[in-house]
Amino acid sequence: MAGEPQADCLFCKIVAGEVPATIVHETETIVAFRDINPQAPTHVLVIPKVHYPDAATLAAAEPQVIADILREARTVAAGDDIEETGYRVVFNTGAGAGQTVFHAHLHVLGGRGLQWPPG
Ligand code: C5P
Repeated sequence: MAGEPQADCLFCKIVAGEVPATIVHETETIVAFRDINPQAPTHVLVIPKVHYPDAATLAAAEPQVIADILREARTVAAGDDIEETGYRVVFNTGAGAGQTVFHAHLHVLGGRGLQWPPG
C-alpha cells in the first residue's frame, strides 16, 4: 500500500530505529537527523515516516506531510541558530539531480556561505 514501510529502504529503517542516526527532532509524521556525510556545518535530513520514493510522489499523495517537513526545516534552523544567517532547503528528485536514497527527504543546509547556482 502507498506509504507503507519498505523492507529494503534505509530511511524506513532509521524511522523504525533499526539503523542508528543522530536524531535532532521527531514528530508524529517526520524524523529529522544529521546527515552522515555533512556538506555544511548544519546538514540535517527531514524525512517523512511514511515511505514515498521522492518529494513529488509524497506531495501528490500526502501534501500535509510535505508541509510538516517544510515546517520542520525552520525548527532545525532555529535549533542550530542559523535562521539569521540563512539556510537552504533541497529536495533532490531523481538520480539525475543527485538523489541516491529513494525515500523522500529534505536537506537543510547552513552554517556557512552557500553558492548559487548549486553544482
Ligand atoms: O539527496 P540524496 O538522496 O543524495 O541524499 C541522501 C543523503 O543521505 C546523503 O546526503 C547521505 O549522506 C545521507 N545518508 C545519511 N545516512 C545514511 C545514508 C545516507 O545521512 N545512513
